[in-house]
Amino acid sequence: MPTRARPIKSSPLLPRSTDVVIIGGGIVGVSTALFLLKKGVSVTLCEKGEIAGEQSSRNWGWCRTQSRDPRELPLAMESLRLWGQMNELVGAETGFRRCGILSLSKTDDQLEKARALLEHAKLYQTDSRLVSPTEIRQLVPGSPRDWAGGVYSPSDGRAEPEIAAPAMAEGAQRLGGIVLTHCAVRGLETSGGTVSGVVTEKGRISCQAVVLAGGAWSSLMCDSLGLRLPQLKVLGNVMRTAPLQGGPEISTSGLGFGLRKRLDGGYTVAFGQSNEAQIVPDSFKYFFDFLPRFLTERDAIRLRLGHRFVAEWKQSRPWRMDEVSPFEKVRILDPKPLKRDLDAAQQSHCSLPGL
Ligand SMILES: Cc1cc2nc3c(=O)[nH]c(=O)nc-3n(C[C@H](O)[C@H](O)[C@H](O)COP(=O)(O)OP(=O)(O)OC[C@H]3O[C@@H](n4cnc5c(N)ncnc54)[C@H](O)[C@@H]3O)c2cc1C
Repeated sequence: MPTRARPIKSSPLLPRSTDVVIIGGGIVGVSTALFLLKKGVSVTLCEKGEIAGEQSSRNWGWCRTQSRDPRELPLAMESLRLWGQMNELVGAETGFRRCGILSLSKTDDQLEKARALLEHAKLYQTDSRLVSPTEIRQLVPGSPRDWAGGVYSPSDGRAEPEIAAPAMAEGAQRLGGIVLTHCAVRGLETSGGTVSGVVTEKGRISCQAVVLAGGAWSSLMCDSLGLRLPQLKVLGNVMRTAPLQGGPEISTSGLGFGLRKRLDGGYTVAFGQSNEAQIVPDSFKYFFDFLPRFLTERDAIRLRLGHRFVAEWKQSRPWRMDEVSPFEKVRILDPKPLKRDLDAAQQSHCSLPGL
């Protein structure tokens, strides 16, 4: 769907040198910029399109400690703490709210798995806890199913994907960072085996380090540098409602179902497991990397051979630093939603108030 991220004003000038160049202005790139600047490191961020033009303005925006792998938990807790200070840090609204997150389990088996993860969460004293079907109906009045139970995390929350990254990019500019939009990085330069600069479509920048935060493009950039980064694209579909009254504040997900309120009062809703992976040249290159995951999730992913095979095959050819790179040819990756899946979702019943 077209990006609804608020465009920011690009910094006017390409610097000759900077400590760190960040490639990509999604949430990873802008938060890296912000925290490096706070440490006194000079930063230039290059974004080929708009800040958060791609995945970072389209995700669910959940900021959660819930259902984390035990190895992720300390990082997730620190991230949630930082989200709590983000508006103050950037001097603008990022949409962060501690609305609570509720994950529903349909079967006792699923509930058991959730309970096992909770045991780890207890070690870190998060406030996630099991809730009964009765509590679920209190938390989400009109909940459509009889769930076996769920996990509720009151202090987890959500940020607003369409405004968070642009607000953080402007915060980085206020801290002295340079944020360039419509400025693709074509490649890297090295000297004595280390990074010495980047070549952008607008000129060269000397630097001591590069952070690659290119989202779905990172594998292509790595490939051009002789580095292997297994990565494939999956298209998921969600719907959005207009603003409405009376729906739940809490963010909720269950089997094939997800619901979150947005700052404008509307809801983002997912029904069913509507994911499509097109077969592309990289599907063969990374076949064995993704096979185990595909086998465990094959019910949730449809494979299809489509137009992207030829487009990505052409894209993966090497390019020169003085010619237009694949990154400039697609300023904003904007795949069309699958209408058939959205129509099917609209036929589904949802008995939450107002939906
Ligand atoms: C369906 C779905 C739901 C999700 N829900 C959540 C959630 O609830 N909570 C959560 O925390 N995460 C969620 N995620 C994950 C989250 O969306 C991603 O982890 C995050 O957006 C990735 O951010 P990023 O900055 O790495 O990449 P992106 O947002 O993709 O940004 C990368 C940017 O790099 C730019 N770029 C690429 N190459 C170049 C180049 N050569 N030169 C210049 N610019 C370049 C691109 O234009 C792009 O803007 C979800 C993901 C999906 C798919």
